[in-house]
Amino acid sequence: MNQQIASSSNADLLIYSRWIATVDDNNTLLENSAVAIKNGKIIAVMNAVEAKALFPDSQAIHLNDHLLIPGLINAHGHTGMTLLRGYADDLPLQTWLGEHIWPAEHAFVSPDFVKTSSQLAFAEMLKSGTTCFADMYFFPEATLQAVEETGIRAHLVPPVFDFPSNWQQKPGDYLSAIVELITNHKPNTLVSFGFGPHAPYTVSDDTFLAVLDANKALNLGLHIHLHETAQEITDSLAQFGKRPVKRLYDLGVLTDKTQCVHMTQIDDEDISLLQETGASVIHCPRSNMKLASGGCPVDRLLEAGINVGLGTDSAASNNALNMISEMTQAAMLAKIVSAKADAVSAVQALRMATINSAKALGLASNIGSIEIGKDADLCAVDLSDLHHQPVYSPLSALIYGETQHKVSDVWVAGQQLLESGKLTQINEQSLRTDVNQWRDKISKSSR
Ligand SMILES: [Zn+2]
Repeated sequence: MNQQIASSSNADLLIYSRWIATVDDNNTLLENSAVAIKNGKIIAVMNAVEAKALFPDSQAIHLNDHLLIPGLINAHGHTGMTLLRGYADDLPLQTWLGEHIWPAEHAFVSPDFVKTSSQLAFAEMLKSGTTCFADMYFFPEATLQAVEETGIRAHLVPPVFDFPSNWQQKPGDYLSAIVELITNHKPNTLVSFGFGPHAPYTVSDDTFLAVLDANKALNLGLHIHLHETAQEITDSLAQFGKRPVKRLYDLGVLTDKTQCVHMTQIDDEDISLLQETGASVIHCPRSNMKLASGGCPVDRLLEAGINVGLGTDSAASNNALNMISEMTQAAMLAKIVSAKADAVSAVQALRMATINSAKALGLASNIGSIEIGKDADLCAVDLSDLHHQPVYSPLSALIYGETQHKVSDVWVAGQQLLESGKLTQINEQSLRTDVNQWRDKISKSSR
């Protein structure tokens, strides 16, 4: 990798780390090295001795037993429904959605509900190393408010449905609200947008075309639940005479800016349509396992050159928003699905949760790896515990070694949002009080 210094001036912060997994094109792993940060950007990645000589007066942090990785990017979720974590479990997707989640959302979802849900999600995500998340949920202005108060990076893809919700009534209303949200938002490097036509079974052809029309001037990415279950494919064949991927391809919805979330039921034609269009897949292994949706053949997609990012989906279908756990499950599930022990290696799992997710969301020029010129979105994982010893490979320890609660420090664009395990921008006590009030309210009215 290029270890040249972009600027010879002093750094705002030097982070010394035992190991640094840069996730650059060569998967460079550095030992006893440092990252220098200035104005929120990475200005040098180099050997610790050289860094000390070049930036003698900079403030420094020493992470002596840690692996520093790029901030993790949760490329699919619904943070606004985190208050429904554990509300309904052990059910197939359609029953879970139709008989439990959608009625609960109708009863309770409001801007206040979404804001508290979002704060709860951000607390959990930051404590487990996530610095950026893609989010499809109602009342995105409430999520945005929580984002701005916290300093986490967000890619908002508000949903479009054919049917009404507490947020909007008709497809045109969803689209107008999204366009208004985007155009009224003061440009900010921490927040980006796209459209979230929910799924082929909740969005008609006319509505997909209306999304494309609304997006003509904006040219943003589309974020869609696609091929989540076998039932979705069967129903699509019965109703449209084609598989959902082919239907979206024919409508012009699949492009290199489209994020196809789940993709558990795939045949060779589906793969060739993804290859042809350059669309990305967002893999959600824990959600797929919990809802018994099926397995995404990640190794086949990667072999076909398709970009595969990683996401948690919502806390209601996972039930964690922990990207380290998600990486572990991605590596493990791929081996079961393919019956190949080398399917999705530790380094591939880390790439999926960082640079691949960044590429999928159109953010790779700014985040996803530890390289000069990128924003300083970083996550430090403490590998000092006895159960990680001996550390032959820090990536092996990260992915296979139960590190999901070992994140110590997190920075977003150079701002430290987690310091020695403590959140710097979220008051955990008052958040806990708000969450408990919602739990009492929801329990009383629905049980
Ligand atoms: Zn989802």
